[in-house]
Amino acid sequence: MKKGTLLYRGKAKSVYLTDDPDEVSLEFRDDITAFDGGKTAVLDGKGKYNAAVSAFFFEYLELHGVKTQFIHMLDERTILVRRLAMIPLEVIVRNVAAGSLVRQYPFREGDMLSPSVMVFDYKDDSRHDPMVNDDIIYALGLATREELLAIRKMALKVNDLLRTYLAGLSITLVDFKLEFGRWKGQILVGDEISMDSMRLWDQKTRESLDKDVYRFDKGDVMATYAAVAERITPGALQRYEAEKTVFSREGSE
Ligand code: C5P
Repeated sequence: MKKGTLLYRGKAKSVYLTDDPDEVSLEFRDDITAFDGGKTAVLDGKGKYNAAVSAFFFEYLELHGVKTQFIHMLDERTILVRRLAMIPLEVIVRNVAAGSLVRQYPFREGDMLSPSVMVFDYKDDSRHDPMVNDDIIYALGLATREELLAIRKMALKVNDLLRTYLAGLSITLVDFKLEFGRWKGQILVGDEISMDSMRLWDQKTRESLDKDVYRFDKGDVMATYAAVAERITPGALQRYEAEKTVFSREGSE
């Protein structure tokens, strides 16, 4: 499939139109940013690791009854997705206290959160993505009560599924961010589920396996992303190589 017109260029992903008005392609670039875009770099190969992990988790969620935007992979850094009307909320689920929760509230890093904590941030870089509650969401007209209920339920189910899957790999799902969108009257999981949007700790060493390695200069970011992608999606990159011929054959028809 040839790349269509660029629709939107985000900090780490680009969205392209396709021949089908209901579908767009999502390219995971090698750009990495942190602190509201205050720290940026280009890391060779990062895009393909995040694409592989996102594709894997979207398929995993679909298999377990969670509806997502995902259709299939187009190439090693690009996925074909349904064109959602995105809801400008970052839905963050936390199982262990870390990051901004520890900076803003009297938690200690590593405190277990049971039950899990869910918060919503309004997606607006110029306002530094302020946290919002249900009333603000309704007052701004961002989502209806019904939609917010569906989003909460889906986010909790995603948490259960990802947490259990990752625990089987001796990885703790500390927290993660989801985005949702509307699609033909339904709410679907959109955006990405990757090392850029999750906080993952090795269960034994508590070593960071995610963007915190970049944020806080904790080590070799690409070596971490490559190793965790291989741990999460064993053989995904090799599978991609094998399937590439199939996809390119379909694309040329
Ligand atoms: O920084 P904070 O602790 O609030 O982040 C919580 C989780 O949400 C982390 O996994 C982080 O990677 C993710 N997140 C994100 N995009 C943002 C803000 C947070 O993916 N804009």
